[in-house]
Amino acid sequence: MRVVRETERSLTVELQELTVTMLLDGVTMMGADCLRGPEGFALGATDLVDGRLPLPVRAFLVQGPAGCLLIDAGAGNAWHKGLGRLPEALAEAGLGPQEVDVVALTHTHIDHISGLVDRDGGLAFPNAHRVLVATEELMAFRDEPRMIPVLPRLVPLEQGDGPLPGVVAVNAPGHSPGHMAFLVEGRLLIWGDLVHHPVQFAQPKVTWKFDEDPDQARATRGALFDRVVDEGWLVAGAHLPHPGIGRLERDGDAYAYHSATR
Ligand SMILES: [Zn+2]
Repeated sequence: MRVVRETERSLTVELQELTVTMLLDGVTMMGADCLRGPEGFALGATDLVDGRLPLPVRAFLVQGPAGCLLIDAGAGNAWHKGLGRLPEALAEAGLGPQEVDVVALTHTHIDHISGLVDRDGGLAFPNAHRVLVATEELMAFRDEPRMIPVLPRLVPLEQGDGPLPGVVAVNAPGHSPGHMAFLVEGRLLIWGDLVHHPVQFAQPKVTWKFDEDPDQARATRGALFDRVVDEGWLVAGAHLPHPGIGRLERDGDAYAYHSATR
C-alpha cells in the first residue's frame, strides 16, 4: 500500500489495480456511555475530549478500470451538525459526485445512508444506477422516508457479491443484521462499524450502544480481527481515528492498531 494523495478530509492509497480513498464526512461527539464494557471497564482520561467521545464518520471510494464504487454515503443533513461534508471531501480528492458509478452500503444506519440524498432531496450521486444494500436490511432502507428517490436503484447485496471487480462483500453481522464488510483486492478490508472507538482493540469485548445484537457484534469482531491478522490484511473503518486506514496486530490476548502514515 502506498499513500498517493492526502488532503484535510481525504487520503488515497494505491493497492494493485485499485485505489481506495478515505472521505471524511465529519466528526461528532458522543456520550461516554455509548461504550459498554464488561464489569470493571473504564475509559482512560485520554479516551475522552471534554468528557465525550469523538466519533469520526468516514466513507470510502474504490476506483479502478471498471469504475468508481462508493462505500457508505455519510450522514448528509440527517444527523449531527458538523457531519454531511462528504461532497467537500470528494472535491478535495479531485472528484465530483457524478463520477460515482455504484454505491454499496455496509449497513443502513443514518450516518451511512443519509448522504445518498442531497440537501434539496435529490439524488446526491445521479450516475450511481445501483445502490447495493444487504438483503436483511432492504426493509429498513425502504422504511426511511428520505430515501424514497433512491428506491428505484436498490439492488440486494449478499456475501460474496462483487460490487466492482476486485471487491467482495463479507458478512459481518451484529452491529446490524445485514452488516457487511468489503474486501478489496484480497488485501484491504473495509469493515464499516466493526469498531467505534480504538479502546475496542485493547478490549475487543467492549460494545457500542447502537450495536443491535451486542453479543453477535462482539463475536464478529473477534472472528474478523483474527482473520485480518492471520491474512495480513490492511483495514479501513467508518469510525477509525485519522486517517481511517491502518493495520492490526496481535498484542497478547488483545490487538493493537496502527494508523497508516505517509
Ligand atoms: Zn456508523
